[in-house]
Amino acid sequence: MRLRNVKNKDEILNNTTYLEVNPKDNINKWKEVFNNDNPIHIEIGMGKGDFIIENALTYPNINFIGIEKYSSVLARAIEKLNDKDIPNLRLIRMDANFIEEVFNNEVDVIYLNFSDPWPKKRTAKRRLTSDNFLEKYKSIFKKDNIIIMKTDNMNLFEYSLESLSRNGYVLEKVSLDLHNSDIENNIETEYERKFVLKGNNIYYVYAKKLV
Ligand code: SAM
Repeated sequence: MRLRNVKNKDEILNNTTYLEVNPKDNINKWKEVFNNDNPIHIEIGMGKGDFIIENALTYPNINFIGIEKYSSVLARAIEKLNDKDIPNLRLIRMDANFIEEVFNNEVDVIYLNFSDPWPKKRTAKRRLTSDNFLEKYKSIFKKDNIIIMKTDNMNLFEYSLESLSRNGYVLEKVSLDLHNSDIENNIETEYERKFVLKGNNIYYVYAKKLV
């Protein structure tokens, strides 16, 4: 993602109730954060937040947590929440490398939307569907491991299908053209909108590992 510095990002981050400032303190306590026992869905690399915000508004009985590494990007998402009261939404600024320190048997679904492809072999470990990350996700899932991924990058998609299969996931739904498929109720992301306008196909997988 092209990163534009947002000058007042700290002020924006300091003045929102959506941001969990010390997310590690919430490990084993996310139920208490939301004050209910509803399922928890997280998006890793939420960018400017369109997907997670729209999901939270559409599905009030699911708790959504958006995770983003960069403050400037997160600030743009928070600006969209100014006039909204969405009790089932929380945001975290962190690198997903530390995800095991934030959740313990608490997550029902992980969304990976247009994740950075890290095309070079030497940086493959940073892909969010690498063995490295799939291993980290094991301890955060409550029960069955469910990963729902969208991308327009065929190399990353092929890599992810192989990686997910190798790690015991069943590829329950796969589409090489999500927007012309029978998969319903798709909620678009910022990147998805751009890529669709450019005429790119959107690749989709719903992968599940039974536990
Ligand atoms: N999901 C959004 C969308 O589809 O429009 C944004 C996609 S953008 C290409 C990828 C985002 O993931 C960027 O905002 C980046 O900062 C974030 N990201 C990449 N690696 C991450 C990591 N390890 N932890 C948290 N966020 C990460």
